[in-house]
Amino acid sequence: ATPVLRVSGLEVTYYTDLGRAKALDDVSFALSAGEKLGMVGESGSGKSTMALAMMRMIKPPGRIEGGSVFIDDTDLMAMTEDEMRQARLSKIAYIPQGAMNSLNPVTRIGAQMVDAIKSHSARQSRSAIEDRCVHALRSVDLDPSVFRMYAHELSGGMKQRVCIAIGILLEPKVIIADEPTSALDVVTQRQVMETIDRVQDQINAAVILIGHDMGLMAQFVDKVAVMYAGRLVEVSAVRDMFTAPNHPYSKALISSLPNLDNKGVFQGIPGLAPSLLRLPSGCAFHPRCEFAMERCSVERPEPQNLEEGRLVTCHLFDEEASQ
Ligand code: SF4
Ligand code: MG
Repeated sequence: ATPVLRVSGLEVTYYTDLGRAKALDDVSFALSAGEKLGMVGESGSGKSTMALAMMRMIKPPGRIEGGSVFIDDTDLMAMTEDEMRQARLSKIAYIPQGAMNSLNPVTRIGAQMVDAIKSHSARQSRSAIEDRCVHALRSVDLDPSVFRMYAHELSGGMKQRVCIAIGILLEPKVIIADEPTSALDVVTQRQVMETIDRVQDQINAAVILIGHDMGLMAQFVDKVAVMYAGRLVEVSAVRDMFTAPNHPYSKALISSLPNLDNKGVFQGIPGLAPSLLRLPSGCAFHPRCEFAMERCSVERPEPQNLEEGRLVTCHLFDEEASQ
């Protein structure tokens, strides 16, 4: 199937007083309709930056410096500001980290949903808009009465489901959810993931889930993408990632998991994550890599496509890819 989403060479740089930090470096991947990608990596590895870049919501001193984000045949990066405003929610929806705590406390849930639609299609009748909202609430397993409620009347899980309902109001092709289950209890986490699963089926969207919980991820995603220091170091089908990870950093991540069946929360691996302001030379992972070779501190590895749609950014695979 032709991918619905194609990200190529996405680059983001932050110009700070302390220097230039490349927060996103040559990130490329593709996703098909109905596919779910889990995006993992230590904090500061570029996961949220990637989401913001795809939404063209990077704020100064950050700048998108290159790349394209195609949804079908349209490059979001080539759109005017106005076109991009329309594309948000209708083509690509973003549920930011902590979204459920950003619901307006003094406005009813329904009014917030109606506003979201109105900012895109002002011409619809009030009743058509309300129908759409109630339909979206039902899709995420919330009672239509939530339409008239305030955020404080809802539990954390219900609020997160409202955010998902807002995300799917205009049936986008791509949905990005940043840490959608953080701050929720284990049972609610599962319910939220199942809700995302179900709405994805309904609208056949491509979904990107950003998260730390590899165990939870493993049960819900099709592919896993691992980020390190602003680069995508591996993309593999979930089974391959967990049974035979390619990149040394992925290997370390997987082996640091206590137990996939229950507590899969990523605890970290030895060594400090590098500062984006002073990245190690060559492969940024080389000071922590147990497979590092001489060239690793000198030559930067390029992302390479291996068999079965796997991607890896590591010199260990240079031979394999050139054959
Ligand atoms: Fe390790 Fe070298 Fe591969 Fe980097 S390029 S992950 S240092 S083996
Ligand atoms: Mg983040």
